[in-house]
Amino acid sequence: MKSLIVDFSIKKEVFFITLGSILGAFVMLIPNFLSDALTNSEFYMFWIITARTLGSSDYLVGIFVHFGVATIIGIVVGTILYKTKILNISKISNGLLFGIFAGFVVTVIFTIPVQYFWIQPVTAEINNTATLNFVFSEEFLLKLFLTHFLWGGTLGILASVLITKKGMRYRCHKCDVEFSKLSIFEEHYQYIHVSSHPHTQKIVILGGGYAGVGVLEKIQKRFEKDVDVDISIISENNYFLHTPMLPELSTGTIEPRHIATPIRNFCKRARFYQAKVTNVNLDMKSVTINTVNGENKISYDYLVIAAGTKTGFFGNENLQKYSVTIKSLQDASIIRNQIITQLELADQQEVVNQAQFLSFFIVGGGFSGVETAGEINEFIRESAEKYYRNIESNSIRVCLIAARDHILPEIGSLGKYAAKSLEKSGVKILYNTKVTDATSSNVSLSDGSTLHYSMLIWAGGNQSQSFVKSLDTKHDKSGKIIVDQYLRLPKYSNVFALGDCIYFRFYW
Ligand SMILES: Cc1cc2nc3c(=O)[nH]c(=O)nc-3n(C[C@H](O)[C@H](O)[C@H](O)COP(=O)(O)OP(=O)(O)OC[C@H]3O[C@@H](n4cnc5c(N)ncnc54)[C@H](O)[C@@H]3O)c2cc1C
Repeated sequence: MKSLIVDFSIKKEVFFITLGSILGAFVMLIPNFLSDALTNSEFYMFWIITARTLGSSDYLVGIFVHFGVATIIGIVVGTILYKTKILNISKISNGLLFGIFAGFVVTVIFTIPVQYFWIQPVTAEINNTATLNFVFSEEFLLKLFLTHFLWGGTLGILASVLITKKGMRYRCHKCDVEFSKLSIFEEHYQYIHVSSHPHTQKIVILGGGYAGVGVLEKIQKRFEKDVDVDISIISENNYFLHTPMLPELSTGTIEPRHIATPIRNFCKRARFYQAKVTNVNLDMKSVTINTVNGENKISYDYLVIAAGTKTGFFGNENLQKYSVTIKSLQDASIIRNQIITQLELADQQEVVNQAQFLSFFIVGGGFSGVETAGEINEFIRESAEKYYRNIESNSIRVCLIAARDHILPEIGSLGKYAAKSLEKSGVKILYNTKVTDATSSNVSLSDGSTLHYSMLIWAGGNQSQSFVKSLDTKHDKSGKIIVDQYLRLPKYSNVFALGDCIYFRFYW
């Protein structure tokens, strides 16, 4: 079965080995205590001698030193075996071998260098000849070996069980999918690669945003054991973007890696294709994609459309040309650079001329517009105060333009609170106002007025993706897909859609 690759993370392995080592250390104490209690052995003297090396005479200190050193040795041995690929402890028998080997290493280290160079000098302080004789006797050494093998065995078995159950994935590199259990991998291998006519149900997800990745996670879990289910996800970008944090990125409060996660990270039982979907033929059950290698077709049995929306300008080319959008990582970095440029320019002006460089307009009273206005307002004002001391704060204008008489309609009365808070921090909100046109320096508003701007951010509209609009199904007037209460397309019970790309109406 050549196509099996076992994946597990070194961090998890170290954690499990540590747990195994701690339990092993407790287990190895049992025979020592029993031996001291039932016979006249004095194993406890060994802990006292160990504690003495740190200036303590408490045997518990000795036990903890011993635990710590043994755990470190266990981790080092495990990591070396893992890195050199000599032995991976994903099988219990290998775990046991590793444990016994670790026990052997610990015993050798304790009996030779530790015993003679570290412990022996301390024993000179002990006047009890019988104890000294015992600690260096053959019987003691034999016990040391046995107890360390007990420690190693417990460590190896526990670490191996934990890794098998919790830390390991079995990956089929032919299919580029992985399974949490070896038995499922074997079933997959038999069914897909050995049996002559495997028939899989293909589920294809379009879009790697909240909706697409959310569905992916659920169905991967649901169909984890169903080897006849084949899952794929297709997205234009190979990362999942936490869009609500884009405004913070545009002011440098956070870094791109904080809000972008590789989609492959979420793909366990699924294959990922980085590609642009150009067409979906609902009758033929096929998706046309554009990849770096050209056009390709992917067939499906079940389709999930989660393609979100793209920024819409209501057909106004000037708005598209002169404004900056806030939808992607690139948009956020453009905004940040432009704000800083404006601050630099304003700082070199007389106070009376500064306002024309510091007039920031954000169009759109929804989440993206409001969050962007709040974030950049704070950034501009704080930066001016801290770094651009020539800038007069009254010259700064941050203006949010909202088409309705309120902002954030999605959150009801909380919108009023948000508006108050924005205004308090210096953002001016123009309600019931639409931007009708723009030049490189002015915006025209629906009330007939024209205002000068130094930066125009457009968060004023979204539209459906082109392939979504051209789907042979019902759409609302903005091009969103109309779905039923099960998020299905009315005529196609095998096609589902969710997220920003749908229009949903309660039917019952
Ligand atoms: C700045 C900003 C702030 C926001 N703040 C909030 C907030 O505070 N609260 C809130 O509830 N919502 C907020 N939103 C809205 C929220 O981000 C969206 O509702 C959410 O992202 C929708 O998820 P989705 O999966 O439907 O679409 P998206 O997240 O847009 O994902 C669509 C996916 O489809 C992919 N895709 C699109 N077209 C194609 C194609 N042709 N081929 C292949 N792949 C394609 C895209 O690459 C993307 O991966 C905010 C949005 C923005 C822009």
